Amino acid sequence: MRLIIMGPPGAGKGTQAKYIAEHFGIPAISTGDIFRANVSDGTPLGVEAKRYMDAGEYVPDEVTNRMVRNRIDEPDAAEGFLLDGYPRTLAQVEELDGMIKFTGHQLDAVLSLVVDKDEVVSRLLQRAQIEGRADDTEDVIRRRQEVYLDQTEPLIQVYKERSLLVEVDGLGEVEEVTKRIFDALDVVPES
Ligand code: AMP
Repeated sequence: MRLIIMGPPGAGKGTQAKYIAEHFGIPAISTGDIFRANVSDGTPLGVEAKRYMDAGEYVPDEVTNRMVRNRIDEPDAAEGFLLDGYPRTLAQVEELDGMIKFTGHQLDAVLSLVVDKDEVVSRLLQRAQIEGRADDTEDVIRRRQEVYLDQTEPLIQVYKERSLLVEVDGLGEVEEVTKRIFDALDVVPES
């Protein structure tokens, strides 16, 4: 399976991505996690990414695309993957199309977690307190929401037009949402 999970910041993508990946036996590839690992290791990529992340802005497409291309080329992703947090811009959609086409496969589904905006912001503020992420201050959270609405939400329509979109209600207990996701994805034919 080649899958994408989408949703606004705080929708619970990362949590659900792990369950979905396990269910289908594919790696969950989170661009946010890869950036954070590079930041904590102090790599050049991490140093560059940090300034954008701390401001709630997107890391430039060329940097992000290159990183995803390298990750997808790894052997564990040969049979499939779940992308969490990528693509986030129209340019990244095109780049991903090229990457998947090159492998001779296609995208199977784009899962969109549908959540209430206010609920999401309060979840993020809670997470900020627990995890102390530098990009989870109130101003940065607002900026991340704006950037999402402006640059990433339009992607939902793009995938809808390609008949790849699977919308799932993302509100409720984690296990309930996971069950809804499995029910929706288990009927998606694998390419
Ligand atoms: P996330 O954990 O997915 O919310 O990502 C944390 C931060 O990493 C984002 O706010 C961006 O600064 C950066 N990031 C993650 N994925 C991407 C992407 N696909 N394009 C650009 N920036 C990204």
